[in-house]
Amino acid sequence: MRHLMLLLVCSFATSVASANDPVPAPSAAAHGASAASAASAANVASAPSIKPSLPSIKPAVVPGATPASRAASAAAAAREAQAEAEAEAELSAKIAARLAAMRANQQARAAAAAKARKVAEARKKEAVVVNEAPVIKPYPGEHWSYEGETGPANWGRKPEWAACGTGNRQSPIDLRDGMKVDLEQIVFDYKPSAFTVVDNGHTVQVTVGPGNYISLQNRTFELQQFHFHRPSEERINGKGFEMVVHLVHKDADGKLAVVAVLLERGKAQSMIQTVWNNLPLEKNEVVTPSVVLDVNELLPARRDYFTYMGSLTTPPCSEGVLWMVMKQPVEASPAQMAIFSRLYPLNARPIQANSGRVVKESF
Ligand SMILES: [Zn+2]
Repeated sequence: MRHLMLLLVCSFATSVASANDPVPAPSAAAHGASAASAASAANVASAPSIKPSLPSIKPAVVPGATPASRAASAAAAAREAQAEAEAEAELSAKIAARLAAMRANQQARAAAAAKARKVAEARKKEAVVVNEAPVIKPYPGEHWSYEGETGPANWGRKPEWAACGTGNRQSPIDLRDGMKVDLEQIVFDYKPSAFTVVDNGHTVQVTVGPGNYISLQNRTFELQQFHFHRPSEERINGKGFEMVVHLVHKDADGKLAVVAVLLERGKAQSMIQTVWNNLPLEKNEVVTPSVVLDVNELLPARRDYFTYMGSLTTPPCSEGVLWMVMKQPVEASPAQMAIFSRLYPLNARPIQANSGRVVKESF
């Protein structure tokens, strides 16, 4: 009788527990990462309850039963217990499968949320970068100089002078590792000429009368003007010089060829003295001396040179300029250099990138 009571209690308990168990819907595992937890909950709620298919319980033992019938009853009870255990095992497996599906869902949702967070953070960062981007101010005015807002670093901001900032054939450069070749001699055909001197606000510029030429590569260039920079704009193997004179020539097609003569401290230079003697008292005032000027006096004894393709070293920094830098510097006296430095202590554009250009030099 005790056995009967125990069986009845057990069966009832199992039956109630089974009816209350949330049993997974088989489709739950197929839900993608987008399934909301609410949907999962709904699935669970609507899932059909699975009740263990337990056989209906009948009294296993009847009063007054024979020993044979008692044995039969015990065997029946054992079968029932086994069926019960199987049903429980089946239920456990289903619960485990449901749990695994829920965990998979949960992980997928967490991954999606992490991804969304990452995207949002990246957008936020991007917005910060945009906000922090420097505002490019327009170039201030029409004038240029060698320092500050209107200095060389900013020349390229003016649209008309864009080459100063973005050009890759700019001058000056540091002349080094030149290809040592038998460079054609420059034929100088200068003669004593009338000239004018002007302080144009950037340098002292001398314009000579017509009839002064250089020839090379079957082309003839006529001397237009020459002017001074302090210190020298160009360097040779990293070495700068006190000053440089740029002799600017133009051919019939308008192509420019500039000969650079480096100046170092030494004895007085006669042609430079003639120019200094005629310096204007005011900027932009043109002085027309009554004497003549022989530019041959400025040239070094040796005519070896470096050559490369570059640009004007002042705005608009136009490229396509053939440069010839004389290797041998010419002397000028400290007093002569001091006179120029009182007007222009610094009027040299910084060294520009070589950008893989070919530099040739006489050997
Ligand atoms: Zn120059």
